[in-house]
Amino acid sequence: MAQAIAGSGTGIWDRNIATGEIRYSQGWAELLGYRPDEVSNRIEDSYDRVHPDDLAYVQATMQAHFEGRSPGYEVEHRLRCKDGAYKWVLSRGRAIERDAAGRPLRMVGTTTDITSMRLLAEELRTSRDLIANLTNEIPGLVFQYRQAADGAACLSYASMRIADIFELLPRQVATTVAPLEARIHPEDLDLYRATRAASAADLAPWHCTFRVLLPVHGLRWRKIDAHPVRQKDGGILWHGLVVDVTEHKRVEQELKDLACIDHLTQLPNRRAFAERLDEAFQGVSRAATCQGDCYAAGGEGDDSRAAVLMIDIDHFKIINDTYGHTVGDAVIRHFATMLRTTLRVTDSAGRLGGEEFAACLPGADLAQAELFARRLRRRVAANPAIVRGRAIDFTVSIGISDITAWDTHAGDPLARADMALYSAKERGRNRVEIAAGRAPGLRHDRAAS
Ligand code: GH3
Ligand code: MG
Ligand code: MG
Repeated sequence: MAQAIAGSGTGIWDRNIATGEIRYSQGWAELLGYRPDEVSNRIEDSYDRVHPDDLAYVQATMQAHFEGRSPGYEVEHRLRCKDGAYKWVLSRGRAIERDAAGRPLRMVGTTTDITSMRLLAEELRTSRDLIANLTNEIPGLVFQYRQAADGAACLSYASMRIADIFELLPRQVATTVAPLEARIHPEDLDLYRATRAASAADLAPWHCTFRVLLPVHGLRWRKIDAHPVRQKDGGILWHGLVVDVTEHKRVEQELKDLACIDHLTQLPNRRAFAERLDEAFQGVSRAATCQGDCYAAGGEGDDSRAAVLMIDIDHFKIINDTYGHTVGDAVIRHFATMLRTTLRVTDSAGRLGGEEFAACLPGADLAQAELFARRLRRRVAANPAIVRGRAIDFTVSIGISDITAWDTHAGDPLARADMALYSAKERGRNRVEIAAGRAPGLRHDRAAS
């Protein structure tokens, strides 16, 4: 038995508490690099081999057992070897004889070398600290997302930046992701979950850009990138990163605005207006193929019809030549304001270039568009632009067309409105002309001023 134990890295000791004598097995001596005859049998010497930093704890643990406060003695501590180096050991023992008063008389126990285990634990601690220190320096939330087979999910690892990204602490999401999902903008939560579900289904990377509503910083944009790995138990483990893309989104929006909005008037530019017009055109096309079954025709929000206006400032070159380009710009801006404020919210206008504008009136028929155009023409004629204290009178000419079921392209009704505008110019300007939509060759069948 002693030999079997000797080979296991464990030594045995037997202590007589009354005499202060302690005897060690051969394996015990070998553990510390001694021959059996080199180890003293005095308990004082045994305490002398304990690392000074561990001694008080070792003695207190021993005392607790002596006094019957613990069923056995068990403590990890360092012991000095023959060569002066320290080894980590696990000491375990038990009083096997006590006197009538319960005082211990004899105690036996084992000493096991746990140096390699302690080293391993130390290495693990060092690796864990390294991971935490590195990930905490990354400007984003580094995470491990664990989803069990039954769908329950948590962040089994979250770097400290979760405090910035979600205004949460790692421990708040250590057992459930509910606090994190509560931070996601309600309108984006479905997208967030759907992208995660798709990633889980295909084991493909999880990418999602979404908004969060944070208690302190309010609305922010976040972007998640993570890779899934299927687990043996049917669950899925993602490793990834969530970063702040709020600034990126702001710049993106600014660039979009720059690409769509006319700098001088802040109206949509030609490109952006073309998109609005195309939407109206698609509505009319859809309505035509629906054959009237899909909705009731007429009234607000009616897709089955729409009208287009082309508007051009009359003799604008004279304004430029008389007052200068800067005053010309002010007149353009003044007109843009009048156009914008005459429109309904569902209408849209755009500056196509120079002193040429267009408007799209979804739901309007030719008669309604004509009413609108006349009102706008009268307003312009009655409200000169006031520039540097001087009133600049000007007028506009307007051409109108409706979008018809026969149109093949949004540009068709726009071209007809342009023809009507040309006609208004020819007939003396400061006029509204309506194009003939349905009869090819019969362009300007109704003149109105
Ligand atoms: P019509 O009644 O036939 O439309 O005559 P018009 O003088 O308005 O038309 P024309 O196309 O001959 O002249 C338009 C002028 O608008 C010419 C151009 O120099 C000027 N223009 C174009 N863009 C701008 C601008 O952004 N600001 C200013 N101030 N002038 C512009
Ligand atoms: Mg003009
Ligand atoms: Mg012009």
